[in-house]
Amino acid sequence: MTWRELLNEGKTSLKAAGISDHDTDAFLLLSYVSGYDRGRYMLHEREHVPDDRADAFRVCIEKRESHIPLQHITGVQNFYGYDFLVTPDVLIPRQETEELAELAISFALNISGVCNILDLCTGSGCIAVTVKKELDKRHICSYAAASDISDKALFIAGKNAEKNKARITFIKSDMFENIDGRFDIIISNPPYIPTDDIYGLDPEVKDCDPWEALDGGQDGLLYYRIIAEEAKAHLNDHGLILLEIGYDQGSRVAEIFSNKGFPDISIRKDISGNDRFAVIKMP
Ligand code: GLN
Repeated sequence: MTWRELLNEGKTSLKAAGISDHDTDAFLLLSYVSGYDRGRYMLHEREHVPDDRADAFRVCIEKRESHIPLQHITGVQNFYGYDFLVTPDVLIPRQETEELAELAISFALNISGVCNILDLCTGSGCIAVTVKKELDKRHICSYAAASDISDKALFIAGKNAEKNKARITFIKSDMFENIDGRFDIIISNPPYIPTDDIYGLDPEVKDCDPWEALDGGQDGLLYYRIIAEEAKAHLNDHGLILLEIGYDQGSRVAEIFSNKGFPDISIRKDISGNDRFAVIKMP
């Protein structure tokens, strides 16, 4: 059997199993077992596949057929050009969150002196690591801290910082509980799905991402209330809070922060045109 025939077999199986991105996923799994990127695949597609590679590919395809997320099979997700290890202990980094990291980077460029950044609910560490790396690349002096309540998540985040050579201080903390000091930017993609809505999510999300990374309490806004209540004590003058929010939470998140005395709040859209981010300036 050639690589091309094997790939087609995988595509057909995933399509029959109702996997929406069947062709892409089949290729990414082929790439995972072969080490070939698109270009190298084209060079080798007519060659015979060694039996052990074909077996490995079929095992991956079977897992994907049973709706195990691709990232849990390959163990990685690319985010902003960096590879992040993922396990069921952390939220799989999402594309829209890259835009949140981008916002933090652009704001950080305008801060004079050392830029202090805190990433709350860091999960895989994707935001903290990306922002730190991008600032390092631009020779912007920064200090980055990242916290999570989960030891297992912090373990993965630590590995991701190591893998990407990003210097981050990790803190085990339930929101601000163990956070000392003040920051120029507090960034967070906290859990924001209303508890009852989680049951209606795609099984690949609700059964495979950690529940605690999704669950934002009864109305989904629990963590925004905590941040609105406690962030001022951890922000420098002219500090900034950057949050990812649900597409229908913009006005309610703005209200939560305005009630806590933050006068300057803007809700921004993601590339799909949905409200997705809140930018809140220190009064
Ligand atoms: N900060 C991580 C991410 O954006 C994890 C977020 C979470 O667990 N809610 O992917």
